[in-house]
Amino acid sequence: DPTSPLLEVTDMVVSYGRIRALHGISLTVRRGELVTLLGANGAGKSTTMRALSGLLPLSAGRIVFDGRDITHVKAHERVALGIVQAPEGRGVFPGMTVQENLDMGCYARTFASKAEYAQRLDWVIELFPRLGERRTQVGGTLSGGEQQMLAIGRALMARPRLLMLDEPSMGLAPKVIAQIFRIITEINAQGTTILLVEQNAQQALRRTDRAYILETGEITRSGTGAELLADPAVKHAYLGVG
Ligand code: ATP
Repeated sequence: DPTSPLLEVTDMVVSYGRIRALHGISLTVRRGELVTLLGANGAGKSTTMRALSGLLPLSAGRIVFDGRDITHVKAHERVALGIVQAPEGRGVFPGMTVQENLDMGCYARTFASKAEYAQRLDWVIELFPRLGERRTQVGGTLSGGEQQMLAIGRALMARPRLLMLDEPSMGLAPKVIAQIFRIITEINAQGTTILLVEQNAQQALRRTDRAYILETGEITRSGTGAELLADPAVKHAYLGVG
């Protein structure tokens, strides 16, 4: 059903031993959307990502992807379904070249033909020309911004149906952050559905269709990017004004 949400999370509870990190969160990502999960340190953003990727089990609740209940589907099978996470920039393989890192992205979702692979690679290099210039450089010697680009590029090589980005602005200079956000918007505009996890409220809310605010394991607010940017409580807590 093309009108059904691509991702539907209902009352998701995740715990670390006896410590509950997510207290029953619900969120929806529709096909083609760019949705942001915004939260401060320790709010549970990474926990949400890991649970959606299948790296952490749920204590309660369910995850439906493309109409199918995947709550108990294993991590590698979720990748095969098209749920692909770009880890934070540090997640690139430091000893592998840019090209080898990109090829690692194809590992879980192999291409039907060489032409299809080449076409995808060209697209990724077009989005990130810097990666094209540095194909033979090892990942570990790239700048922070370049490593972030490589992490996203690698995820794109897996042809995500849902691309999950974990704090792509982390540790980067404002100019580089702006550039990364422009590219994220471009990837979305070209048809990839994106779930973005961020602390950078200003940039994320300006670019997103909708956002959810996560506070100590609970979703406390949601709305369009514009609505949340105008919300006094959000301004006060996340934009440092009011
Ligand atoms: P940050 O932006 O700082 O990465 P976050 O929003 O991603 O924060 P999480 O890493 O998801 O937050 O952590 C949510 C809560 O779960 C925190 O209270 C954290 O201390 C706790 N937590 C995370 N990982 C573990 C773990 N392996 N064992 C126990 N508690 C954990």
